[in-house]
Amino acid sequence: MEWNGQTRTCGLIGNPVEHTLSPLIQNHLAQSLGQNLVYVPFHVPEGGLRAAVEGAYALNLLGLNVTVPYKSRVMEYLDQVDPAARRIGAVNTLVRTGDGFKGYNTDMPGLYRAMGEDGVKVTGRKVLLLGAGGAARAVAVMLWEKGAERIYILNRTPQRARELAEHINGLGPQPGREPSSRPLAEAMALEDYPALAGEKYLAIQTTSVGMYPRTGEALIEDSAFYELVQEGYDLIFNPAKTRFMELVEAAGGRAFGGSRMLVYQGIISFELWTGEQVPPRLAREICALMPFSK
Ligand code: NAP
Repeated sequence: MEWNGQTRTCGLIGNPVEHTLSPLIQNHLAQSLGQNLVYVPFHVPEGGLRAAVEGAYALNLLGLNVTVPYKSRVMEYLDQVDPAARRIGAVNTLVRTGDGFKGYNTDMPGLYRAMGEDGVKVTGRKVLLLGAGGAARAVAVMLWEKGAERIYILNRTPQRARELAEHINGLGPQPGREPSSRPLAEAMALEDYPALAGEKYLAIQTTSVGMYPRTGEALIEDSAFYELVQEGYDLIFNPAKTRFMELVEAAGGRAFGGSRMLVYQGIISFELWTGEQVPPRLAREICALMPFSK
């Protein structure tokens, strides 16, 4: 692709940004789909967020991704925020509008698209959510939105699990479901899962336990926990196969890693910026390019 006077720019703002895989994803998409677009990382130092967002708009950037530590703070500099991103409390994609940027969260649609591809349903499911940080909050909002029946939140720090359950239970009735007298989300201590025996669950691992370089670790080691798991998603993408995934498979469940979620969040950002629909074959091609895909 030749860049010229019509080339549009997108990028990533964060601190740090040096290890990002987004340029690989976005520039591959632009080239494959013949979009005259270039994507670059922008390191934004502490205190520079407002100037970065305003400057990007003034420079006619088409859109931005946002990463740590700015996913929540960026919202105050936006013209509009998509309701789902507002419920999550974090934005990872800015799309240029007539008056400023509009913020979206494409992480969760990314996970949901990967689940659809795997034939894994959320509606009506009982879910074990491991973790109560930023990623867990986004997953829990998606589970609320897509009609999960019950969410058990297990976290090292019980107080954070309780706060997340309260947030989810405060969102009101789930779209498209009959209001229930029973709260959707319940916080549990890490060791309380034996009380859930006798059923099969969808498990989503959102903690950073098991991430490179501490790849031999899992939040829960007990095989009795994994007997409960029908499908297990780990949001970690490095390594491609985590200890959690190994334990799910050893107990007979289906296990999936976080790299397709990462690729799909990028694809959904690209679709928002360009209006193009990315074909599934291109998504598969990009997944195979990911350095941790093996
Ligand atoms: P975060 O807000 O810092 O939350 C970290 C979570 O991990 C908390 O629940 C924390 O428990 C738990 N945790 C951390 N160290 C632990 C330990 N030693 N023992 C037990 N629990 C521990 O981080 P985040 O933004 O949610 O990200 C979490 C993970 O999701 C990261 O690995 C990240 O790479 C991944 N992620 C992947 C994607 C993707 O596209 N695939 C997108 C977003 C995030 P406490 O509350 O007890 O501290």
